Amino acid sequence: MNIMLFGPPGAGKGTQAKKLVDFYGFPQISTGDILRANVREGTELGLAAKAYMDKGELVPDDVLIGIIKNRLKEEDCKKGFILDGYPRTVPQADALEAILDEIGRPIDVVLNLEVHDEMLVGRISGRLMCKCGASYHIISNPPKKDRICDICGGEVFQRADDNAETVDNRLDVYEKQTQPLINYYKKKGILVTLDGRRGIDVVFNNIKGILAKFA
Ligand code: ADP
Ligand code: AMP
Repeated sequence: MNIMLFGPPGAGKGTQAKKLVDFYGFPQISTGDILRANVREGTELGLAAKAYMDKGELVPDDVLIGIIKNRLKEEDCKKGFILDGYPRTVPQADALEAILDEIGRPIDVVLNLEVHDEMLVGRISGRLMCKCGASYHIISNPPKKDRICDICGGEVFQRADDNAETVDNRLDVYEKQTQPLINYYKKKGILVTLDGRRGIDVVFNNIKGILAKFA
């Protein structure tokens, strides 16, 4: 099964992706996680991406298209994959179509998580992350042990871009550059919209119900 998690920053894409990885065993492809790993490792790509990420801007399309092309061709994606945070622009979506056509693995379903801006700001400002990609929240979803990731035992931290100055811009960028993709996938007949405001497990059960039709 080839799944795309779609929605604004803070909608819960990463949180649901991790649960889907556990449940189905498909790899999560998070472009945000890939970029952050490059920033941490100080690669050329990371150095170039950091300036955009710190401002809450999108990293240029050609960079992202290159990343996703290589990642989708890896062996572990043959059984299925979960896209998280890609595509974010129409050119990225067009490039994805071409790549998936080439490898013969189309997207089965786009899960669009709907959450209003006020809630997104609360989620993003309280988010804690681990470098393994696990996402927590200071209030609604804290790690079991203070500051320690439940999954890998690493230390959780606040993302550099999860600050008040950047959040507004990220929501703006989403609205202008990414939201148009809702229509793009609606027209293809593969978009399913979910109420992402509800609790993590309620949303997950909803997703499992939808995916049961594709298994
Ligand atoms: P995204 O990947 O879409 O940017 P995350 O999965 O990282 O979003 O979630 C953003 C924040 O909101 C995190 O702190 C996470 O723990 C929290 N969160 C995610 N889903 C829910 C939910 N359904 N209810 C409450 N908090 C949530
Ligand atoms: P995320 O972890 O998905 O919230 O992404 C964090 C940041 O990484 C974004 O604000 C962008 O700067 C960058 N990024 C992640 N995915 C993409 C993408 N598909 N296109 C452009 N920039 C991206």
